[in-house]
Amino acid sequence: MTVFKNGTLITMDPQRRIITEGAIAVQGDRIVAIGKATEVRARFPDDQQVDLKGNIVLPGLVDTHVHLAQAMIRGCADDLSLIDWLSKRVWVLQGNYDEDDGRTSAELCILEMLKSGTTAFVESMIAGRYGFDGIAEVVKRSGIRAALSKVVMDIPTYATQTDIMYPGMKEDPEVSMRQALEAHDKWQGAANGRIQVWFGPRPPGGCTPELYRRVAQHAAERGMSVTIHLAEVQADVEYIRREYGMSPTEYMESVGLLGPNVLLIHAVWLDADDIARLARTGTHVTHNPLSNTKLASGIAPVPEMLAAGVNVSIGCDGGPSNNTYDMVRDLRWASYLHKVRALDPTIMPAETVLEMATINGAKAMGLADQIGSLEVGKKADFIVIAMNKPHLTPSPNPVSTIVCAATGQDVDTVVIDGKIIVQSGRVLTMEEERILAEARERAEKVYRRAGIEVRPQWPVM
Ligand SMILES: [Zn+2]
Repeated sequence: MTVFKNGTLITMDPQRRIITEGAIAVQGDRIVAIGKATEVRARFPDDQQVDLKGNIVLPGLVDTHVHLAQAMIRGCADDLSLIDWLSKRVWVLQGNYDEDDGRTSAELCILEMLKSGTTAFVESMIAGRYGFDGIAEVVKRSGIRAALSKVVMDIPTYATQTDIMYPGMKEDPEVSMRQALEAHDKWQGAANGRIQVWFGPRPPGGCTPELYRRVAQHAAERGMSVTIHLAEVQADVEYIRREYGMSPTEYMESVGLLGPNVLLIHAVWLDADDIARLARTGTHVTHNPLSNTKLASGIAPVPEMLAAGVNVSIGCDGGPSNNTYDMVRDLRWASYLHKVRALDPTIMPAETVLEMATINGAKAMGLADQIGSLEVGKKADFIVIAMNKPHLTPSPNPVSTIVCAATGQDVDTVVIDGKIIVQSGRVLTMEEERILAEARERAEKVYRRAGIEVRPQWPVM
């Protein structure tokens, strides 16, 4: 039993209570008491005490859209259009990965996420060549919570672009399906329930309707979730109209892939009917504001989706599209982007954005009864923001301080499943120096094998 005392607790409980001079008592992997520090300490006077020094405590951030394999190719494709971005850089580099590269990139990515306050994430597309088992082992050792989705595919195209997929990224449909099911058999519920295994089918253009229906059927039989990129760019919508004569969500519903076990990624180009269909079916959406902005994909109708009752969470996406996995930075974008689109500074307040990054993310992962808020009986997954810094002083509203002023660098402590994983900004479960050195070295070799060189635009002396 450990008592974390003297913090400002943003609980995200149903009343959204903020407890000043608060304390959390943790036993095993669970929260057993939360309240004013004086009361909690009186109940547990003899247990180990950790002083939070007046810092802000909040539920761990849930990043609902991550490409682990893209951490090691951060910065490979800046200022390019999406098709060149994919076909000339991202796919070519990823298509030259081996399983050691897949594992090292996952280590780099998880190291960055832990240090910036992400305690749970959804990885959307693990290709066979990245090595599923090696990645799951990294998740297990690091102490983070994850849904790991295995790619399934049967057509090597992207939206209206045919035959652009790099050979190294193509997977045989039967092999990709078998690997997904084997990964689920082996890893679902592993590491004290920290690991889930999902399906990560490629977007329309990468899968036939038949393959989607098989995914939906297996998912229903096994209780698995599914995450899919949908309507990221206008070409996605054109492709689905041309091939199937339907809107993006009509098509997904026709193949059985809308519902409470489905998490759609991006969902930028949706109309009012699409939004109503997502609300009616209980389908979740992950919003990726930095990625959509950098790739000029468009602005997702997030205020409209939230108003319609759709559960919308937040994701960082990847190293070439963001280019970081720092959720705290994405919070700011998730707020400001919609304000400027609507020319209305009152929409997407800090409170809404923090709900998206915590409790909504927990819902998207099917874990709303386990994580996403600080409540008795829930898993002890929380983070501490160090407040004694110029850019966080003063802090009249701790919620807006986090959304409008903080960055992931301000995260001091991370607790997951009741264990202290990050302390004074240092990740206790991972070898930071070794991972950084290995990532630099492996990235260089991947670039060489892929025949890609990225140089500054200006002369290097
Ligand atoms: Zn993505």
